[in-house]
Parts: sequence; C-alpha cells; structure tokens
Amino acid sequence: MISRVRLHVATVPMATTFDHAGASRRRSESVLVELHLGDVCGWGEGAPRDYVTGETTAGAIEALRRCDPAALAERIDWRSFDATIASIAALDLPSLVAGPSAAAAVEIALLDAACRHFERPLAEVLDVAAAWDGANLPAGLRRSGPAAVSLVIPLSRDVASTLDDLTPQARASLRHVKIKVADPCAAVQRLSRARDRLGADTGISLDVNGGWSPEQAERIAPELTDVAWVEEPLRARSWPKLARLRRRTGLPIMLDESCTDLADLRTAAEADAATHINVRLSKCGGLFASARLALRARQLGLGCQLGVHVAEVGPLWAASRVLATGWGLWQTVEAGRGDEWFPEPLTEPAFTVDRTAHRVAALAGPGTGIEPTENLLRHTRCPATWQPDSGWRRT
Ligand SMILES: [Mg+2]
Repeated sequence: MISRVRLHVATVPMATTFDHAGASRRRSESVLVELHLGDVCGWGEGAPRDYVTGETTAGAIEALRRCDPAALAERIDWRSFDATIASIAALDLPSLVAGPSAAAAVEIALLDAACRHFERPLAEVLDVAAAWDGANLPAGLRRSGPAAVSLVIPLSRDVASTLDDLTPQARASLRHVKIKVADPCAAVQRLSRARDRLGADTGISLDVNGGWSPEQAERIAPELTDVAWVEEPLRARSWPKLARLRRRTGLPIMLDESCTDLADLRTAAEADAATHINVRLSKCGGLFASARLALRARQLGLGCQLGVHVAEVGPLWAASRVLATGWGLWQTVEAGRGDEWFPEPLTEPAFTVDRTAHRVAALAGPGTGIEPTENLLRHTRCPATWQPDSGWRRT
C-alpha cells in the first residue's frame, strides 16, 4: 500500500537565534518523511538533537533507511480507519526504528497519510489512544478547542524587558512563563524580575538544561519557593542526585532530557526523582509514544508539560497541537515561535499563535491539516528515496 517514500533534511535559517544552557540554535535541523499511499501523501518530522537524545541528523537518516516500508505496510490492517490507526499504534515504532526522532518522523507520516486516505483529521487518532488498556483517559480530560500556551524566555533575552514589552492584556492573560537559566545567582534574579511583573496565578518555571551541580541546586533551592518546578536542574539521569535534591529541598523537578520513554519514567518514579515530566513528540518517539508516556506519568501522580523542540518546521508542531487541543491533562503547553523564527511561512496554513490570549487553535484536517510550502521545500535536500520495486536509493 505504501507506494513511495522520500526522506528530506530541512535546514531553514532562523530569523532570530534561540539559546539555552546547552545549545544555541540558528537554523532548523529536521528530518522529514514524505510517504505516499497511492494518490495521498503524508508528511512526518523528527528533530534529532544530540544534546537531548544523542541523535544526529545523519544517524536519523540512516535509521530511516534501515526501515523497510513494505514490511511496515504488511503489518498494518488497512481495511478501515480504526483498524489502520490501531495497527499503526500497535507497531510500537520506537521499538522498530532506532532513535526517537526517526520513529516520530515515520509515525507522523504514516498517520498523516492514513488520515488523508480516510479523509479524517489527525485528532481522531486520539480515540485510539484513549482506549488503550491500563491507560484509559478519564472522560473529563478529553477536550477540544484552543489550548493555553506558555511564554518561553530564552537565555539571552532579558526577562524584565521581555515582559514589559507585552501589552497589559497579553501580560495579564499569561498562565505560565518558562525562563531559561544558567548561572544560579542570575536565575534567582531572572525569577524575581518575572515575579514582580506577573500575577500570583501565573506559574513560573526555570529550565536549567542540566546546567547546575547538585551543590548549586541545593544552595539555591530555598530561594525558589514560588517556582512551579525546575526543569532538568542536574546532569541528565543522575537519579540518586535528583532524588537527594528532592528529598533535602522539596524542590519540584520536571525531567526533560532525563525522560524520553517509559523506562526513564519508571526509574524516575521508583527513585522519587521528579514531580513532572516534559513530553515532546520527537524526543519521545512520536504521537502515540508521547501519549502513552503522559498517561503513565499521570497514573504515577506526575504532572506533564507538552513541550516542543525549537525550530520544528511543520508536521511536528501540527501533530503536537493535536495533543495540546485534544487532551486536557497538560499542566502547561509550549507552542514554539515558528512565526518569528521563520517569517516566511513553512506550511500552509502558516504556524500561528494568539500572542495576546497565549492560545493555539486546533487545525482542521484531513491529516495534520498542513502542507509544506515551496519555501520549506527550497530549504530541503533529499538524501534517499524508496519505492516497492527498487527499495532504498541514495539520491
Ligand atoms: Mg527543557
């Protein structure tokens, strides 16, 4: 049933740089999977990040070339929409494709193409996820409509002027502000500048990107009493140190780089190393793997943020938006700033965020509801193609 696959690498220059304690980004670096089912075409995306999962773009392309579309197609029951989506979910792509970003790219392409084939919006795949054994989504958590998104302030941006530059209405409607930090003393200053400007009902979190030592974190914790949580304070997966920090300070901790799958989540929960996790589609291996991780975290009593990778070019943010607007289990949702990083749209319809109400709206289907623009395709190269009779070919 899969008639053609093309792999692309999208390297699009950003109009503004985004930086944090671990990296600085000036261009997109996404792998795209273009997957044809007869006359419909689906697009998937992964964002390999060596400082998050240890993945590289070249490694993700190689992982995708080791994947056999014909073998995947044979394991999918194409007879109806529900059967197709359930069998794609049952593939457990992160177990078949090496690296979460490559798995995410294949999965989103398959789901997008299947939804377009059956003329359904991607949001309807959540009905399959909601019915998983042991992870039933309570009815009250299903929702549809715009989702509130947080404001993320990069490391190089001044907190005071960023918030002062907002209109009073935009500042008042903020539900959550996430501040990238590095040096612990500067972090306290950045926090207090934000607190001075925000209402008590606006949550604030700090994202350290693994930049603090356990000693620094313990020393500074008493000054962080009004943070909602601190994201990835220590080196990734330093479980005993994270647990000790939790025990000695009570600091709420969100895991990001430390938690990419159910095994990480189990370890974190057993060690009592965290209170929250950051779920991001590419980091976690796709829509279904992210949904499973979030549902399991909720069962374990951990809160979830639905996060993004900086410079997602299309299918990733569109698929993420399905979870953002379809499920109400997120404590916070991030949208990214695709409209500012890429002023010339990469998709049709273009990426948009309501920056007065700080909300994103659901996309109409079929599939993800977006198409790549000529501008995006101009910034891609195609390292490999696949067809049933010839298999993979480098291009
Ligand atoms: Mg983070």
